[in-house]
Amino acid sequence: MSDELNSPQYDVPPEMQGQIAITTLDKIYNWSRRSSVWPMFFGLACCAIEMIATATSRFDIARFGMEVMRPSPRQTDLLLVSGTVTKKMIPQIVRLYNQMPEPKYVVAMGACASGGGPFKEGYNVVSGIDNYIPVDVYIPGCPPTPQALLHGLITLQKKIDKQTLKTARWYDKESEAAIPVPVFGPDIMDPRDYEAIKLHAQEKLQAELNIPSPEVEQG
Ligand code: SF4
Repeated sequence: MSDELNSPQYDVPPEMQGQIAITTLDKIYNWSRRSSVWPMFFGLACCAIEMIATATSRFDIARFGMEVMRPSPRQTDLLLVSGTVTKKMIPQIVRLYNQMPEPKYVVAMGACASGGGPFKEGYNVVSGIDNYIPVDVYIPGCPPTPQALLHGLITLQKKIDKQTLKTARWYDKESEAAIPVPVFGPDIMDPRDYEAIKLHAQEKLQAELNIPSPEVEQG
């Protein structure tokens, strides 16, 4: 390091040698973000117990600057989805994700959050949180151990290291709008599909009651 600092290539005055470090803006920007990723204080099922264990002294998530779990999405960098994602919870999770400021990341912890796990295709569970919000890192296991969670968080840090100010989505004026919050009715529903679902339901009802459709009446 000192050889680099004293490199004649940069013509550092003698009194400043040993006091100047040269790096790129991306590197220092990413270093500061990767070292202070604050997760949301949030858990859904058994995986959350492993997440809590990761914060204890035995595993010490504080080594990565991630121990500051925030109770508000507005002060959160990371949505750590730890547990079974039920249809009833999806609207709340998407709403919390929308309330997080950029830059924001999502980690799917465990088989349930990644793909439904042992409850896949159950009547009340969705087949992966990535059907609703973008996921940056998946952690396999049922449940993943605290070591697996730490490995997933280190993987996230490596992803952050590769980001650049030039292409960061949060500085893009055309960046995507908030994700529409799904609606929990008889089943979970994406509001963007509302008109199609309504039409389908009307057609089905008319067929069941044997009511001719308006088009047939007009004809
Ligand atoms: S992946 Fe396994 S341990 Fe984690 S929430 Fe699902 S059932 Fe529980």
